[in-house]
Amino acid sequence: MNTFLRQKGHRLTQSFWKNAIITPSILLLSLPSYSGEISVAPQQHSPIPVHVTPMLVSLGFDDNLDEDGLSWVLQLLKKNKNPDGADSFANASLKASFFMHCGPARGNEEILQKWRQANAEGHDIGNHTETHPDDKVNWNPLDSWMTADQWQQEIALCNELLMMPEAQGGVGIANVNGYRAPFLTYNDNTFAALSANNIQYDVSLPAGNTPEHDGTNNFWPHTLHNGSPEHDIGVNGGWKPPLSTYPNLWEIPLHTLIVPPDSEMDRYGLAYSLRDKISSRVPWFDAVSGKGDNFDWNLYFEPAWGAAGLNEHDVLAIYKYNLDLRLSGNKSPLVLGLHSGFYGYQNGAEHFGMPESTVESRRRVLEEFTAYALSKPAVRFVSHKQLVDWMEEPEPLTLCATSEWDAHKAYQKGDGVTYMGKQYQAAWWTMQQIPGLYENSPWSLLDACSPK
Ligand SMILES: [Zn+2]
Repeated sequence: MNTFLRQKGHRLTQSFWKNAIITPSILLLSLPSYSGEISVAPQQHSPIPVHVTPMLVSLGFDDNLDEDGLSWVLQLLKKNKNPDGADSFANASLKASFFMHCGPARGNEEILQKWRQANAEGHDIGNHTETHPDDKVNWNPLDSWMTADQWQQEIALCNELLMMPEAQGGVGIANVNGYRAPFLTYNDNTFAALSANNIQYDVSLPAGNTPEHDGTNNFWPHTLHNGSPEHDIGVNGGWKPPLSTYPNLWEIPLHTLIVPPDSEMDRYGLAYSLRDKISSRVPWFDAVSGKGDNFDWNLYFEPAWGAAGLNEHDVLAIYKYNLDLRLSGNKSPLVLGLHSGFYGYQNGAEHFGMPESTVESRRRVLEEFTAYALSKPAVRFVSHKQLVDWMEEPEPLTLCATSEWDAHKAYQKGDGVTYMGKQYQAAWWTMQQIPGLYENSPWSLLDACSPK
């Protein structure tokens, strides 16, 4: 719950810090050396051909200190399954990542039990620091009050709780793989601490802000052996601190979400301009590119606090549109930033400060988005850890369609059907065209469930 300060800081820094001279800080810690190090540059294409690339959707939930919301999210993930296929993600219950705010959970058996349950159910348990600090002075992200040692403590203490055996009051996980920065605020000290604590990936840097990236051609996850071009935009703009290089760390881009343009409103079930609605509430929203924030906090909370105050239909339209953009493009993973607490009641009551949504309506957004995504045969919900592992060893998608072709249904590119005992996949939008009947048909025959 963070981004108000970040946004406010962003606004201030746009004007105030624009001309600040940036001195790269010097990395003082000596890093452990790994064997089998892998360097993957930011790329706008999948490591394998796009037609055999799964559409990976990866949900990341922060804080996780509210029992009701966390229980509900775990239930949602458990009761749904990835579409059919023969790849290792197919038919599995949905997996996600959970970034834990550790301090308040210490000694809270109810919450610790939920964290252990998440781990046991195959989710990825990540580090969101011990005390959730905001390392900015006067909202200036270039001015920090924390020392390198303090950052080291924040990461190490939380890791310790997560890896401590259950019998000693810990969560008992084997290894902490991932990290998200509270308030998305970090600097070189943060990243040095991640490396020193064997964290494998971060998901905190700005992404999708390169002007030519339009949702169909976003960067894939990459290692930080040579920095991040999207973070550099922030550095050059004076609103992000410079970072050293971190060859052992992966960055999972949490892209800006593109708000559907007015021409797409019908398709996503809205009778008004969503870009206009957000423009009227969020002064820094760019209605031309439509690039907006990713986190649920920014989507639902009060405009007076710097968020968009959206309703369930708005948010569902944004999620669906960004999935569809990726499916029509390079299939770069759809990574969403969420807070499990927003999907549950707080002491039986609604949350304060989300004017156009309720616990029930926000739950419907996740339920309906999940159902929509799972109707696409290429979609696989994976944890961030599974996403990184997939980048290191990409496995082709194998499809087996589950539903018979329906003459009355419109199909999008990538949709699969069975017809007369054979498997087909739509190469483009189609309706009322019988699979396998025409030359130049939109339907491609799938050979042994592998898309062609
Ligand atoms: Zn947080």
